[in-house]
Amino acid sequence: MEPQKPHAVCFPFPAQGHINPMMKVATLLHHYKGFHITFINTEYNHNRLLQSQGPAAVEDSPDFQYRTIPDGLPDAAARDTQSLCLSTRKNCLVPFTEVLNRLNEQHQSTTNWPPVSCVITDAVMTFALRAAEEIGVPGVLLRVANESYLTNGYLDTPINWVPGMIPLRLKDFPNFIRTTDPNNPMLNFVITEVAQSSTASAIIINTFDELEHNVLNALSSISPPIYPLGPLHLFTNQIQENASKRIRSSLWKEEPECLKWLDSKQPNSVIYVSFGSLAILSPQQLSEFAWGLALSNKNFLWIVRPDLVQGENAALGPDYWKETGDRGLVVGWAPQEEVLSHPTVGGFLTHSGWNSVVESLSSGVPMLCWPFFADQHINCRYSCEEWGVGMEINSDVKRDEVGFLVRELLDGEKGKMMKKRAMEWKEKAEKAIASDGSSYLNLDRLVNEVLIG
Ligand code: UDP
Repeated sequence: MEPQKPHAVCFPFPAQGHINPMMKVATLLHHYKGFHITFINTEYNHNRLLQSQGPAAVEDSPDFQYRTIPDGLPDAAARDTQSLCLSTRKNCLVPFTEVLNRLNEQHQSTTNWPPVSCVITDAVMTFALRAAEEIGVPGVLLRVANESYLTNGYLDTPINWVPGMIPLRLKDFPNFIRTTDPNNPMLNFVITEVAQSSTASAIIINTFDELEHNVLNALSSISPPIYPLGPLHLFTNQIQENASKRIRSSLWKEEPECLKWLDSKQPNSVIYVSFGSLAILSPQQLSEFAWGLALSNKNFLWIVRPDLVQGENAALGPDYWKETGDRGLVVGWAPQEEVLSHPTVGGFLTHSGWNSVVESLSSGVPMLCWPFFADQHINCRYSCEEWGVGMEINSDVKRDEVGFLVRELLDGEKGKMMKKRAMEWKEKAEKAIASDGSSYLNLDRLVNEVLIG
């Protein structure tokens, strides 16, 4: 009889920027290491995936199956970061434990169904570690933020003492913890999640050694064993070369026609604009970005999610399109990885979400950074000051500055320097996932030392 496969249960935090990297980890373990995978989505997101990707995206195969649990919020409730953090912590432990128990019962009744051998969950859902402990398997966390952000959580010292980090300004710190109110729910959330993370068997990080060497070194003495496996999207694409067969985890329906529009442009002539899955702009901010892009006289591909603007979205009317014509294309959601590796994309105006930063610099694309919340301020600071691939846009965004910086990025001397640096990071990222690279070797170590050890 064949030995049973190890069985990893992967449980992401229910937001796009967390589901994507968890799906990559699941894919790596499944395709490279022969794991049986159970992937857990919230019921709400499962329905969104069904709508955006069709039933095939969440269809079970014999060794990759999906399960769902409720997120504890009413269907009509807003699912912003704070409500999801507080609700998952309060409501998900019981249904998650039930799923684990049911999976193990199924193992007893079905001989070819392996028992759960490890749990991999998000670093902001440490409650799931307790469930892993209860069934006696390793509980591993996946961190989807810049590692410097994690170091912040250990911070009880002045700013320039944070081990391994470049000096920071107060405004670089996550807005959650920039508060003097000891009862602030998100401050307390972050403090307890970081404290609980010390009980994990290991921490997986979507970064690579060369990118955050000093911080990773500093962390290694104060955290559970850490395994940088990034850039996760490059690592998984390596084994899923046919892009059309990639596992899709977008909660919005992608509009791949934008790739054809990109084909019609000159190399390095397009600025790609996206503020990720959670940022919400005021109509005024949208208007400043819109007219800044118009003023730049450059081509732009802009993601305007249906819920991007709070209130009336009047800026993108007929007058606007009369001005910009075929220079601009607005879509609701795009296959971002493909967009960033398209040769006509020369820059990325981004909110500096961690996935976006890693995807951009490992595609050799320099950035204009307009951080919005959470770790995005630190990501911006590192992109601009440490990695040499970013220029920051003032938080009080103005069209003239946007127009100037877009031109500078695509045509100016500073833009050329940044492009060169970004291409160097691309090369380093590719080395990290090659068969003797740091992330590749870390995957072996993670499996042997923790997941099946
Ligand atoms: N993304 C995408 N299509 C879009 C916009 C974003 O596929 O049109 C993906 C992007 O590639 C990234 C994720 O959504 O993997 C956003 O994560 P990030 O950490 O950048 O930002 P967040 O949404 O968490 O603020």
